[in-house]
Amino acid sequence: MRGLLVGRMQPVHEGHLDVIKRILNEVEEVIIGIGSAQLSHTLKDPFTAGERVMMLTKALTENGVPASSYYIIPIEDIICNSVWVAHVKMLTPPFKHVYSGNPLVQRLFVEAGYQVTEPPLFNREIYSGTEVRRRMLQGEDWEALVPDSVLEVIEEIEGISRLNHLSKKEVKE
Ligand code: ATP
Ligand code: MG
Repeated sequence: MRGLLVGRMQPVHEGHLDVIKRILNEVEEVIIGIGSAQLSHTLKDPFTAGERVMMLTKALTENGVPASSYYIIPIEDIICNSVWVAHVKMLTPPFKHVYSGNPLVQRLFVEAGYQVTEPPLFNREIYSGTEVRRRMLQGEDWEALVPDSVLEVIEEIEGISRLNHLSKKEVKE
């Protein structure tokens, strides 16, 4: 049995790891769709799809999740919500279960006849992409909210410098 989780993962954080592990308690394989794959280099969507693939792969490896139990698939946005499910199907291995906290994603898959589950949120006040990005820009402790391997990827790609530059703040380096 295979399940689908879609998220922008800007960046990958401990909440994503938690939900992926929970999904893998219910299904043998999880398809992780990296949403808004075409977006990068903005304050809301700073990282490229390739960078997000790297974050996820390394974080799952760090957490001992075997590579045979997941597929990571970048999914670009399309303009027409009514055909988005078909767009996702075109890009992914077959699946029956969908896990999402996003009402639009839930609605589109329910109408297409899929079984949709809303997974519980883990420590949502801090484990959210919005909070991680806020801390990155404010110079607060964002490192505690992401797996170590994600921290290393963000260092490698000089992600904080990118965010600061995009926000037109002076970069001290
Ligand atoms: P942003 O604040 O940028 O929207 P986000 O933290 O909501 O980021 P997404 O990539 O939008 O991250 O999330 C995708 C999916 O990951 C959500 O629909 C939800 O199912 C799951 N998720 C996100 N945060 C958590 C969390 N803290 N605990 C469990 N699941 C989570
Ligand atoms: Mg979100």
